Amino acid sequence: MIMDLTDSHAHVDVSDFDADRDAMLDRARAAGVGTLLAIGNGPEIEKLGAAVPYAEAHDWIYAAAGIHPHEAEHATDAHYAELERLARNPRLIAWGEIGLDYHYDHSPRDKQASVFRHQLEQARAAKRPVIIHCREAWADCLRILEEDWRSSGLGGIFHCFASTLEEARIGMDMGFLISFAGNVTYPKAQNLRDVARDIPMDRLLVETDSPFLAPQSNRGRRNEPAYVAEVARTIGNVRNLPATQIAETTSANFRRFFGLGHSGNRTGAVPGGVSSHF
Ligand SMILES: [Zn+2]
Ligand SMILES: [Zn+2]
Repeated sequence: MIMDLTDSHAHVDVSDFDADRDAMLDRARAAGVGTLLAIGNGPEIEKLGAAVPYAEAHDWIYAAAGIHPHEAEHATDAHYAELERLARNPRLIAWGEIGLDYHYDHSPRDKQASVFRHQLEQARAAKRPVIIHCREAWADCLRILEEDWRSSGLGGIFHCFASTLEEARIGMDMGFLISFAGNVTYPKAQNLRDVARDIPMDRLLVETDSPFLAPQSNRGRRNEPAYVAEVARTIGNVRNLPATQIAETTSANFRRFFGLGHSGNRTGAVPGGVSSHF
């Protein structure tokens, strides 16, 4: 059955897709992906605008840009200026992914924090919700959001959520949506499925994080946006709802949050959630 799916987080610009990118996007459409947020961190910090051309070429694709915590130590004023320029593009609807990653610690933690805070300030000025990447850093991440972001009222998305319901609740209280990725399908991830079962329906999103983190049926191989259907099916199973309903609700949540019309056109509403949508 064809679903109305939204992949809230995919890296379609990366070289993994160079050989078959058009076919990959066609497969996404055939699987029912009606909306996709392309995250343009690029494989390196020099390609912050990597997602924008896809959003300009396809009315069903939107773009985000931001400095990933892995790249924080390379951030310069020139990169911040580039992000500010990119954020003037109406097809760029979110700032990210940004945040903290203490699992890999590719950049020093104090640098990750300062780059995160700087971008929160920029996103606030640009009136763009933020896409949060947080791994094994929830205490610091939530504290920074509390101090530097809550008052913006813009909210955002906790992407590839893999933590507890309590942390999700703190985020939801700040206007965040909670997005689940392929790891929710893994046999050992029952704890995460329990969280996905208990998130209020109007805060739920699904994503692939393509080309990473393929769901169970393609685990270990390249992920692609078409596989977001498997994430929706898994969440439907734990909530005793048809996958089509998970797909429709998560798509409606995404459109409402970003102020997008059903056709994919922006309605002109101010993006973000706390005051205007929740
Ligand atoms: Zn991420
Ligand atoms: Zn990502």
